Parts: sequence; structure tokens; C-alpha cells
Amino acid sequence: MVENRQPQVLLLPEGYTRTQKRDAQRNNIMAAKLVAETVRTTLGPKGMDKMLVDSMGDVVITNDGVTILKEMEIEHPAAKMIVEIAKTQEEEVGDGTTTAVVIAGELLKKAEDLLEQEVHPTIIAKGYTMASNKVSELLDKMSMKVDIKKVETLNKLAKTCIATKAPAESKKLVEILVKAVLRVIDEGKVDPDNIKIQKKVGKSVDDSELINGFIIDKERVSSGMPKKVSDAKIALISTALEVEKTETEAKINISSPDQLQSFLEQEERMIKDMVDRIVKSGANVVLCQRGIEDVAQHFLTKAGILAVKNISSSDMSRLARATGGNVVKTLDSLSKTDLGSAKVVEELKIGNDNMVFVRECSNPKAVSILVRGGTEHVIDEVERSIEDAVGVLKSAIEDGLVVAGGGSPEMYLSKGLMNYSEKLKGREQLAVRAFAKALETIPRTLAENAGIDPIDMMVGLRAAHDSGKKWYGVDMTKGSPADMVKQGVIEPSRVKEQAIQSASEVAVMILRIDDVIAAGKLKGEGGPGPGAGGGMPPGMPGMPGMM
Ligand code: ADP
Ligand code: MG
Repeated sequence: MVENRQPQVLLLPEGYTRTQKRDAQRNNIMAAKLVAETVRTTLGPKGMDKMLVDSMGDVVITNDGVTILKEMEIEHPAAKMIVEIAKTQEEEVGDGTTTAVVIAGELLKKAEDLLEQEVHPTIIAKGYTMASNKVSELLDKMSMKVDIKKVETLNKLAKTCIATKAPAESKKLVEILVKAVLRVIDEGKVDPDNIKIQKKVGKSVDDSELINGFIIDKERVSSGMPKKVSDAKIALISTALEVEKTETEAKINISSPDQLQSFLEQEERMIKDMVDRIVKSGANVVLCQRGIEDVAQHFLTKAGILAVKNISSSDMSRLARATGGNVVKTLDSLSKTDLGSAKVVEELKIGNDNMVFVRECSNPKAVSILVRGGTEHVIDEVERSIEDAVGVLKSAIEDGLVVAGGGSPEMYLSKGLMNYSEKLKGREQLAVRAFAKALETIPRTLAENAGIDPIDMMVGLRAAHDSGKKWYGVDMTKGSPADMVKQGVIEPSRVKEQAIQSASEVAVMILRIDDVIAAGKLKGEGGPGPGAGGGMPPGMPGMPGMM
């Protein structure tokens, strides 16, 4: 960096590390590749699961790319960029997180080969951007328009997505999911917020159900209250039903039993007042975000009202939406117009616990999926697959465009990019070809994870695609190439588009970095610096015990 016999100039304060040029690139690429390697084995229906144990000993068992990466608390800055694309993918489309990360890793691996051949990173970045634009164009052309009103199509989409996580249970889940999504469609759009997932350990996944309405994971406050209220008029209250305590500590001097009596009576009157106001509004159900004290419970019971306390604020706002009511902050303002409504509110025993069901809400678009399963790990993974599948159905319903799965679109795009590269002159051609090769990693990995010989598979797939069989992908059971549309393996085009675009963007961004200047860790935080320094392979601190 500094010429001999010249005075050394120190630009950076003590503790800073600086990595430049090829070292910086090599280091960042290595870290990104490591992230991709980690999730690679989980891709596809035959992918393996990972067990993640955090510092508290809590265990997560999952196959979901983004969950694995979030749990790993990766610290390397370039590796973190890869984790970010998984998160974006999840937020934007729900599914395809592993695909995005695996492609990003492969793009960088191929870029490294080009860097070795002295192709300048700017050229590679340019070629990759050209290739990803071409991918969008090709995807548009290849996508199939589908009638998303056909339940059969939605079933296939949901099944393809769910089968990668919870294969044995997928049939019942698919049925529930498609029904749920169909019920919440509003002017061609799907709002995932309208589908509440309520988990309860017990029974099996097949016992999961779709509830037309809302489930509150709480029981009524007193057993004297009615268990079931029909034609429910629901007061949604965000304050506690108790006498307000003064902010400052107050002392009351009571010198006679009479005084004590009257003091208590006064408190009781205040509470009675509150309950009277609720009764006057016409409510027969009270859903309260805070506590309900004993005396209030007593009066509510006497009035024949079903009350539930300590409901989370997110549930309160969802309940307001579902029942068409308003959450009121003070009882003074509670009026008839604030009440929400539902056909039935009732408490039921689910497993060992009681839960309150708000059925047939005034907003018919509110549904809940009650997820059952043998253990917490099982229902957590089912929840994640439901979230993915809702994203998939949403994308398909909103766009009406799908492609087949099993690596067939990647094969098709790869071939299309190869043809495109032939028309290019400069060195960008090499980068576009590298991009094309990188896409093949998806079918290859699907085959590898299913224990199928990847070389035979790739030879077979290339031959099929050369003869124009564009939906040929990896048949998991036969172990040979097959038409994925015929097998009902379809995915929304939006998932593929987003996965490839964000993989390309992050690869380009990482390639453009040729200087990493990192501050040392603040004292007391412990651990090494942000791993980007020096030419050594990056440390990935915080990685929990993985199996
Ligand atoms: P991601 O996080 O990227 O969604 P998954 O583990 O869900 O990763 O795997 C998705 C990949 O598995 C897609 O390429 C999809 O086409 C493929 N896939 C899903 N089901 C099948 C199937 N039955 N046969 C072949 N490939 C499948
Ligand atoms: Mg998936």
C-alpha cells in the first residue's frame, strides 16, 4: 500500500481494519458463498431440515431459508447482505427465500472465476445486470396465464409450496389454505392480515381447522359468565376496568370502621358505574386489552356479559377490523356505534386450554386457521409454511401468472441467456454466460438433495430443453427429467422474478465493493471485529450449534 522509504501515513484511527481490492472481494464472496452453502441442502421437497439452538437453549427445527438465516445472527457485513435478500423475498412474496440465496451464492462463485481470469468487476456487474433484465423479459414470455378462480389451480400452487416443508400433512392444509384465501379475496387483492394463524399444541396437523372468524387465545374472566353469546354486541376496550390508581403515592387515614366501609363502597360505586355504562351501550360481550378487577368481574357476570381480559393490542386492532367496532380508550365515550358485532362469541376447550371464538364477524373477510400439531416445533414449521403459501396464493391471484417448478424455469432461462450471450460482443458476454450457468444450480441442487445423480439429471434436462420441452424439471420420485406442469408443480412467476432479481442485485452490489473499512468493536462488546478485516476466511460469530 505504501511505497518503501516513504513516511507512513495513517488515515484511520487505531483499531480500524482495512481490506482492499482482490482481498476485499475474495473475502466478501467467500462469506456470501458460505451463507448460500448453509441453506442449500434445504432446497426443495426433499431438502433437509436444520436444527438451530440459541444461547438460551431454545430449539428451532426448520427448512425455511429465511428462518435459518435470521436465527443464525450472522455478523459478516457481506453475508448480512445475503440475509437481507432472503428477508426481502419473504416480505415481498413470502416464498422463494432459499432459491434467492442459493442463486446469489452461485452468481458470486461464478464471478470469482471471472475475476481470476482478470475480467474487471465492473464488466461482470454490467453483464449480470444485462442478464437479469433479459431474465425478466424471458420470464414474461414463458409464463402461463391461469384462471385463478379455478380451485384446482390454487390447490396445485399451495401444494407445491407446502410440500417443501410439511409433506405428510399437506393435503388437509392445502384445503384449508385455499378456502381461507378465497374467502379473504377483496377486489382481486389478498391481505394476509385477514388470515390469523392461531397455534395450539395437541392432536395432529390434520386436525387443524379453518374458523370463519377470530380466535382469542384467552378464556372468559369468570366461570359465572355465559359460555356462549349469540348475536354478540362487542365492546372493545383498551383501558383497565378498575379504579385508577393515583400517580403519586397517596395515603388515606381511616380512623373508624364506618369510614373504611364508605371508602370501599365508593370504590365499588365507581366500578359499578363503569359496568353500567357498558350495559347501557347495549354490549353483551367485553373484550378488554387490560385487566378487569374482581368487583368489575362480579358486576359484569351479574349483567350476563361475557368478558375477556389482557388481549394483545395487535389482536385488539384485528378484532376491531373483523367485528366492525372501535377500540375505545375511555368508557365515557362508549356508545352503541362503537360496538362490533358477530353471530356468536363462545368459549371452547381446545386441548387443555379454553379459547374464545368470535364467529361469523360482521366483516366476512376475517378468518383464522387453528393450527394443531404434536409439538411446538411441528406447529411452528406449519405456521411458517402457511405464511409462505399465503404469499404464493396472493402473488398468483394478483398477477394470474405462473411458471412450472422443479428447476424447469431456471433451465429455460439459462438456455435463453446462452442464446442471448451469443449476440453480445465484449467481455460482458462472459458474465452473461456465467449468469446462465449459475441458474442451473437450482435444478442441480434439487437433484442432489433428493439423492439423484446431478450429472445425469443435468444432461437429461439440457437434452429435453434443447428439444423445446420447456417445462421439463426434476422429477423427485422417478429421478429423471419430467414435465412439471403435468405433475401439477407450479409456482407464481412473481416468486421466480423476485428471487432472481434480488440475487442479481446483491451479487452486483457485493462485486462493486473493493475496499472494506471496518471500525474495531467497541470495548466491552466482546467478540472479534466484523470479520471483514484481513485476508482470512470470515468468522461467522453467533452461529448456533447446527446439525
Ligand atoms: P424456497 O425457500 O426457495 O421456496 P423450497 O425449499 O421451498 O425453497 O424449494 C422450492 C423449490 O422446490 C422450487 O424450485 C420448486 O419448484 C421446487 N419444488 C417444489 N415441489 C416440487 C416437486 N414436487 N417436484 C420438483 N420440484 C419441486
Ligand atoms: Mg418454498
